Amino acid sequence: MQKITGQSISSELAVGTIRFYRQIRNIIGDAIAANPNMELTRYRAAYQTSMEQLQNLYNKTLEQLSSAEADIFEMHRMLLSDNRFHHAIESAIIEDGRTAEYAVYSVGQKLCEYFTAMDDPYLRARGADIQDIMNRLLFALSGKTEIALDHILEPFILMAEDLTPSETVQMNSDKLLGFITHQGSPYSHTAILAKTMGVPALMSIDIDESWDGHLAIIDGEKHCLYIDPDDALVQEYQLKINSGKKRREELSRLRDLPAVTSDGRRISLYANINTPADLTAATEAGAEGIGLFRSEFLYLNKNEYPDEEVQYGIYRDVLEKTAGKHTVIRTLDLGTDKKSPYLALEPESNPALGYRAIRICLSQPELFKVQLRALLRAAACGELHVMFPMIVSLREIRAIKELLETCREELQEKGLPCGNPVLGVMIETPAAALIADELAKEVDFFSIGTNDLAQYTLALDRNNARVHTFYDPHHPALLALIRMTVDAAHRHGIPVCICGESGADLTLTKAFLSMGVDALSVAPNALLPLKDTIRNISLSA
Ligand code: PEP
Ligand code: MG
Repeated sequence: MQKITGQSISSELAVGTIRFYRQIRNIIGDAIAANPNMELTRYRAAYQTSMEQLQNLYNKTLEQLSSAEADIFEMHRMLLSDNRFHHAIESAIIEDGRTAEYAVYSVGQKLCEYFTAMDDPYLRARGADIQDIMNRLLFALSGKTEIALDHILEPFILMAEDLTPSETVQMNSDKLLGFITHQGSPYSHTAILAKTMGVPALMSIDIDESWDGHLAIIDGEKHCLYIDPDDALVQEYQLKINSGKKRREELSRLRDLPAVTSDGRRISLYANINTPADLTAATEAGAEGIGLFRSEFLYLNKNEYPDEEVQYGIYRDVLEKTAGKHTVIRTLDLGTDKKSPYLALEPESNPALGYRAIRICLSQPELFKVQLRALLRAAACGELHVMFPMIVSLREIRAIKELLETCREELQEKGLPCGNPVLGVMIETPAAALIADELAKEVDFFSIGTNDLAQYTLALDRNNARVHTFYDPHHPALLALIRMTVDAAHRHGIPVCICGESGADLTLTKAFLSMGVDALSVAPNALLPLKDTIRNISLSA
């Protein structure tokens, strides 16, 4: 049995088998070949392996499913054996002296981009096939196989070098027990996603491929991982997990009770969701509404930006499912760790201070207007709150309002109904907190994003694991900015919610209530423990 210490994101526990998630970006390695002839031999062997794998997949699919599904693998065989593709890779190895991995990756990537830029939807979709073939060749070169998570039938703990938010959001499997990663920070979006899924995540672990298939325990409370635990320890943790489940079941008695302190102060409790699928957990936890729907997660894994019709359908659907409850959609917050292929964001030396969120939206108004029109149309179907991330100035909020008016005119010209969303600003920069009095005159509510407010107040990149011990959600400067924001909002008669992770920090709940915060919005499984804490607080004591 081995015990390893890391950085945990929550106090959750898990017992299960480790599955190693191998990522393409960790396979590519060096670009320059030490011995191009050897690289050519390696590539040709990987090519043969891939062709055989595709033939086997074709036969198996034909036998078990249908010829229509099997044809996909036949098409992949044809694409793989295309002479131009094959020769381009071989010439990158022999003439340019590239490693087999690099040659496959660079040729494949170029071809993918060529297809995904096409107007014809059929040809555009071929980009994903090229990506698939490229991955197959890369895995064949590494001598490993990729795990297909949706085919794992047993509950598992996922181990990876690093996980991006877009990879994490795809892993929302009911078989997933927890995450172990080498890279990553407890304040990143990947960590937030794990919290929303209600599973533990341990970061800063020196992962070892040989753990694949071994039994492990994650103890989020003690920040540690046990590999090959003995039976007694497994039993001890299974008991702890069961008593945790019982405690959650007991808390469900609070589900339909109000969040009110023992001396009568009522507060609204909402849920943060990242995809519409999280709505079920929010409803089960008795959320009074959705305080933050991170709309960008819908678009992260797509090859192209969803059009107005698609976005409208999703927002209307969310509104229908929340059935008249308070619903806040946050407009696109892409950039830094949240990247999407269609935006082709260039690398920046300080991405957190760079081109992200509202800055992207206001610099690419045609892209932003697609989302705004979809939101205006959805607002015709029920009361919708819309808020804007990363605001630092009045100029930005005025520019947004102008764009909204243009979108309204465009929709009216087409005879499409639109509603009047309730508008809000996220207070997640010190600048926004300091001009809260001015901002409050422009909008109907504030929502404090403490994750970013901490990042920008403490000059500390929330995605940088090396500095996360300096990240202090209790820092007096942060609390002072929150208090200023609440006071300014109330002077202008608008409500304030806290939707960052601090909202679920039970050691801060009393401070937030004393400041007069009107609502808290947290991950669904943090709702009931928070309500329990609130109901046991006395503000007069
Ligand atoms: C925040 O910054 O606190 C917030 C809620 O937004 P996100 O975590 O998505 O940046
Ligand atoms: Mg934020």
